[in-house]
Amino acid sequence: MISPVLPTYNRAPLAFTSGAGSWLTAEDGSRYLDLGAGIAVNALGHAHPALVEALTAQAQNLWHVSNLYRIPEQERLAQALVDRTFADTVFFTNSGTEAAELAIKMARKYWYDRGEQRREILTFEGAFHGRSTGAIAAAGSEKMVKGFGPLMPGFRQLPWGDHDALRAAITRDAAAVMIEPIQGEGGIRTLPDACLKGLRDLCDATGTLIIFDEVQCGVGRTGKLFAHEWAGVSPDIMMVAKGIGGGFPLGAVLATENAASGMVAGTHGSTYGGNPLGCAVGARVLDLIDDAFLEAVSQKAAQFRQGLEGLIASHPAIFESVRGQGLMLGLKCKVAPTEVVKAAYAQHLLTVPAADNVLRLLPALNIPGSDITEALARLDRAAAALAA
Ligand SMILES: *Cc1c(COP(=O)(O)O)cnc(C)c1O
Repeated sequence: MISPVLPTYNRAPLAFTSGAGSWLTAEDGSRYLDLGAGIAVNALGHAHPALVEALTAQAQNLWHVSNLYRIPEQERLAQALVDRTFADTVFFTNSGTEAAELAIKMARKYWYDRGEQRREILTFEGAFHGRSTGAIAAAGSEKMVKGFGPLMPGFRQLPWGDHDALRAAITRDAAAVMIEPIQGEGGIRTLPDACLKGLRDLCDATGTLIIFDEVQCGVGRTGKLFAHEWAGVSPDIMMVAKGIGGGFPLGAVLATENAASGMVAGTHGSTYGGNPLGCAVGARVLDLIDDAFLEAVSQKAAQFRQGLEGLIASHPAIFESVRGQGLMLGLKCKVAPTEVVKAAYAQHLLTVPAADNVLRLLPALNIPGSDITEALARLDRAAAALAA
């Protein structure tokens, strides 16, 4: 008999009833150290008091009003994002997938309004932009698209990190390039700063728009507010979600005035996007992720990385290398990462697998150093159990 919940996930037999900081409590009362953070969502850990306060204060006032009216909480969050990024304007969504949909529409409308037939959006092998019909067409992998055709046309996937392929593809016919500065689902694959700079140069020369998908790598995850800041280049359009809501469903598309110029009244909308609850929480998340917080992320990342290098040295048959930036860390494994995830469950440690044989470690950005030490000890025991 089919489960009352559509069985589209391979779920672990675990259910959690409460959380605090980097720890989750399961139904049986046992505690788990969380290095998944809801897949880079709970950026400030579970039940952060300031976020609980922001959410409850807003809940007691006003949950929802239509975008037929001004929403002051939305305006405040948009202003905070504009103040701290390349962007001039923001549209709020409820998820990363919805952000992808708008980013695609925005790029297409930009060229339509200029009367140019530039329709192709260049994407990358291993990419993940969500599970909508548009987002799976953008990613193009067999795993995501099989059985769901006909696919939305207008996307072409390029090999990851191949500058010659980029140079050949970015012509005056390309509408946009859509790229994760660090691929998340694809296996914590970082695009070197020089490649991001090269991409910006090619796009500047041809007018091609750049869409950065920072749904997973954004909002402080790498030690900068947004990952592209490391390379010193900015996009024309950027997708944000996951961490921005700290666990409340919230996403956004940020854009320059120029890139957004086609999106006039009536061209896009959302019932819930930008609702007062989500925006009140998002504004508090951004307040908390200030420069001192980002500096601390980099320090924690250095501690974590050093510990992981030690683990690799201790378990050369299990682990191969560490990759990523800040607290978006990947451990390349010599065994199936799902096996490591299972062994870690036995140590009451939560990790997340990714493609390219990588185990993802995406802790809360405010994880205490003592929890990092504890996580490394548990990973060490999990690896020892696997090797035995
Ligand atoms: C998770 C993710 C998405 C999709 O976000 P949802 O909120 O699940 O719709 C898009 N892009 C990237 C890079 C992601 O990691």
